[in-house]
Amino acid sequence: MTKQVLILPGDGIGPEITAEAVKVLEALKASDNLDIEMTEDLVGGAAYDVHGVPLADETMDKAQASDAVLLGAVGGYKWESLDISVRPEKGLLRLRKEMNLFANLRPAVLFPQLASASTLKPEVVAGLDILIVRELTGGIYFGQPRGIRTLENGERQGYNTYVYSESEVKRIAHVAFQAAMKRNKKLTSVDKANVLEVTEMWREVVDEIAPQYPEVEVKHMYVDNAAMQLVLNPKQFDVMVTGNMFGDILSDEASMLTGSIGMLASASLDENNKGMYEPSHGSAPDIAGQNIANPLATILSAAMMLRYSLGREDLAVKIENAISKVLDQGLRTGDIYSDGMTKVSCSEMGDAVVAAL
Ligand code: NAD
Repeated sequence: MTKQVLILPGDGIGPEITAEAVKVLEALKASDNLDIEMTEDLVGGAAYDVHGVPLADETMDKAQASDAVLLGAVGGYKWESLDISVRPEKGLLRLRKEMNLFANLRPAVLFPQLASASTLKPEVVAGLDILIVRELTGGIYFGQPRGIRTLENGERQGYNTYVYSESEVKRIAHVAFQAAMKRNKKLTSVDKANVLEVTEMWREVVDEIAPQYPEVEVKHMYVDNAAMQLVLNPKQFDVMVTGNMFGDILSDEASMLTGSIGMLASASLDENNKGMYEPSHGSAPDIAGQNIANPLATILSAAMMLRYSLGREDLAVKIENAISKVLDQGLRTGDIYSDGMTKVSCSEMGDAVVAAL
């Protein structure tokens, strides 16, 4: 059956980079029986300019009816002074919330050709390939009660609640185990079980689920050690699973091991592997409209969409191999350029990936 894909280019470089991902998907439709129908709509500032809101109800309905959403980026100088309720980011948050996207998958992949872009030694990071699975809709960012109160002695006290129910841990653990099954079958669950009861339970639930995936080797690691190990020996990791706050921090740390923001994809999934796919970077208003942005993070996000929501692992691998080939050819957008390479524009990079397919 034809799968429905909603394309939301958004703002800034969003339209330029998503156009290149669409180009790649169109090529696969023609060459590899990729059975998808793509529809485009507005999100972020672009939606605000037309509808007065960063995500129209009709667009939300289309997203709900789609098998996957591919998003560029939102935001820009033009909309910074708007009331917070209609800022471009609110469009993104609404999509995440109403689509119930509880699982955030952020790969930190360093193509060996770009090893010199990292601040770490090339031998430490060359070939790095980590997938961080972060719980996105629970934990301390959402726990109640929360707030700032004044105590009887007049002193102010800030407080938050770190809470996870068993079912929340189970569903994110299943996503992580299933992702590990598609990769090198190693899973590291990150917690602070020596101090926090909520993560003591997290650890127990992960262990209870593990027998359902006998091929996956499971390890538990305290978050402080995980932060250290990511810098010391990042290639020991395959899939890491953790809660919302630890995942927020560790995924940023891991992504920066690669040193190139224009290369990092992400996926946010619901219980049925329906998802939203977007590059990890923002709308880069400083370079928008110049055809110089790196479209590879968005093209890699499209590859994740094929892998997780559209059941075409074969085509995900095909895209990843094509990107590797293009890098082997020495083609680089400005953000990943180094001496001796050939500098290409955003659209030339997209064309090169299509040619390499
Ligand atoms: P940014 O990621 O947009 O840009 C940071 C720097 O990286 C800039 O110098 C930019 O030119 C560069 N960069 C980013 N993506 C690139 C690419 N594909 N190719 C080449 N260079 C690239 O972050 P920012 O400057 O902090 O934010 C700009 C706007 O994006 C803000 O309005 C912010 O709110 C928004 N934002 C949106 C998202 C999202 O849509 N998910 C995420 C982060 C920031």
